[in-house]
Amino acid sequence: MALIVRIDVDRPYGKTPLLRHVFSRVASDIYFPKLQAFGYLRELEVILQILNEAKAPAHIFFRRCTLPSKPVFELIEAGGHEIGLHLENSRSFETFSDEKAMLERYIDRPVVSVSKHGSGKHKYGFHHYAPYEPDKYIDWAQRSGMKVLLGNLENPTLPPSRRADLQFYPSAFWLEPSWRDTSKFPVAWLQAQAKTTDIVLLFHPDNVLADPSLTRDLRDLLRSHDTRLLT
Ligand SMILES: [Zn+2]
Repeated sequence: MALIVRIDVDRPYGKTPLLRHVFSRVASDIYFPKLQAFGYLRELEVILQILNEAKAPAHIFFRRCTLPSKPVFELIEAGGHEIGLHLENSRSFETFSDEKAMLERYIDRPVVSVSKHGSGKHKYGFHHYAPYEPDKYIDWAQRSGMKVLLGNLENPTLPPSRRADLQFYPSAFWLEPSWRDTSKFPVAWLQAQAKTTDIVLLFHPDNVLADPSLTRDLRDLLRSHDTRLLT
């Protein structure tokens, strides 16, 4: 079986140093140009290089403030990755459709996979609608012909379900330990489990690269398991 790699691209300029953190916040709330000189999507580029070396295709979900740059596009094409929508404004079917159309215009191809930004507790940024309402997203994704919805629950043993052509994975194994019960679900659990089950492995590039032990965990997992796309 295989890992289903999900990357949520939350921060255009990462978190460090402080100036890039500020750019990330301003870009999320208002608007900020894509400046390669300040490392726009630099962390994602590094992760894509790791994935491409491992020949590990992944689902990569973008927000309106983290739309792919040219170098990111090239790495995505080279690695055969899938671009999805990281939904922020989930207030209604109309706001969902607007975000999907925005991303499709930008990348000039249909978008058939979606994940939700935030798990319901906090509001992240001006455009973000915080509640986490997966039943609505299932309905909207299906109505708009999408194929994949990846949910934010933190128990990685929850099974996927299917409604017509839409595959829904309600949960993921979050690589960052702050969203994972690390005593019940250590990385060794995933190493063993992924031999017999397809499991979604979720992470955020800047967090993984900021912690050498997480970067090592990611490399080890990619060495031990194939990854596959759901599309
Ligand atoms: Zn997010």
